[in-house]
Amino acid sequence: MQHLFNRHLICPWCKKGEVLADGKAKVTVSVMCPKCKRFFQGDLDTLKTEKAVAQRRSGRAS
Ligand SMILES: [Zn+2]
Repeated sequence: MQHLFNRHLICPWCKKGEVLADGKAKVTVSVMCPKCKRFFQGDLDTLKTEKAVAQRRSGRAS
């Protein structure tokens, strides 16, 4: 039986928003909280989350 390694990252700002990220890679991802719309970073290896400061607009979508 295969199991999808979805990780639940809890928003460090409001502690309520939850973001699902697949855990294929041990990387840190930047995500936006669906509740408070703030950005935070989540480490898919340790599942630690960190508040991300507002980034300057770089105009790059990727
Ligand atoms: Zn939040």
